[in-house]
Amino acid sequence: MNYLSIDFGGTYIKYGVINEKEKVVYFNKVKTFSHCGPNFVLARLLDIIFKMISDFDVLAVSIAVASPVDPEKGILYNPPNLPGFEVFDLGKYIRERVPVPVFIDNDANLYALGEYFKGAGEGSKVMVALTLGTGVGGGIVFDGNLWYGAHGFGGELGHITIDPSGPLCNCGNRGCLEALASSTFLIGFVKRRLAEGEASLLASFRDSLTGEVIYNKAKEGDFLAKEAFRRLGKNLGIGLASIANIFDPDVIVVGGGLSGSREFFAEEMMEEFNRRALLSTKDFCKIKFSELGDLSAIWGGYFRIIQNIRR
Ligand SMILES: [Zn+2]
Repeated sequence: MNYLSIDFGGTYIKYGVINEKEKVVYFNKVKTFSHCGPNFVLARLLDIIFKMISDFDVLAVSIAVASPVDPEKGILYNPPNLPGFEVFDLGKYIRERVPVPVFIDNDANLYALGEYFKGAGEGSKVMVALTLGTGVGGGIVFDGNLWYGAHGFGGELGHITIDPSGPLCNCGNRGCLEALASSTFLIGFVKRRLAEGEASLLASFRDSLTGEVIYNKAKEGDFLAKEAFRRLGKNLGIGLASIANIFDPDVIVVGGGLSGSREFFAEEMMEEFNRRALLSTKDFCKIKFSELGDLSAIWGGYFRIIQNIRR
């Protein structure tokens, strides 16, 4: 008996097969080619599902999507990194074609669920998870269950306001956590300071800046690169303090691609967190980094299936 868990993002489709003894028996990662449009991407997704169903005895499938999603039906609402999908009933589309039960959820939710049961959140009662990448995703787990809000869209922690006059966010507001603690923030910050004439090793990368380039230059000791990460850490600490004050969690897990650069932001993050979190929550709330990397949403998908099949 096996379960197929897919992490369907704008850049990669990662997928794993986990058996009933909780062993990952297969894992692979392919490019999404999201710029080729929905028809291409959906065919690619179905190919993977059919291949896995024929190679392994797959009992159920879960799909973690980088999109606001109705977790019951599996309807996507304007996924920012999957052009052309807009409002799309992925649940209906997949369930009409695939002969086993299919569960669809937001990728940050399933990353949170994975970390709760198998990663940095293990043993906690209340856990909040943030994932830092191009944007900032969030998931909230109470007593082993994801918290969805009244209509399935809760937990959008990336859009709490940190600075009302801060940079524009993808959602249209200003100064969201997502606009201030993501690789998009690092790039914007560096571009602004370069335009002001600051000397930096990053000057020759002006048009090809990425989070990774800025991280590499920080490692070479570049002041501007290190300053960008310090600012990110401070912004993130402000967000973490609000989250701790609201939820009183045992753990807040920080993950996503950017968390690999923690050496350059963890100190400022903790300083700001300790400055702003209330004494009552700060003493109990641990800040930890993700332990499952590429596999967090894969594990989360597995637990989403198990929880729903048992119900
Ligand atoms: Zn926002």
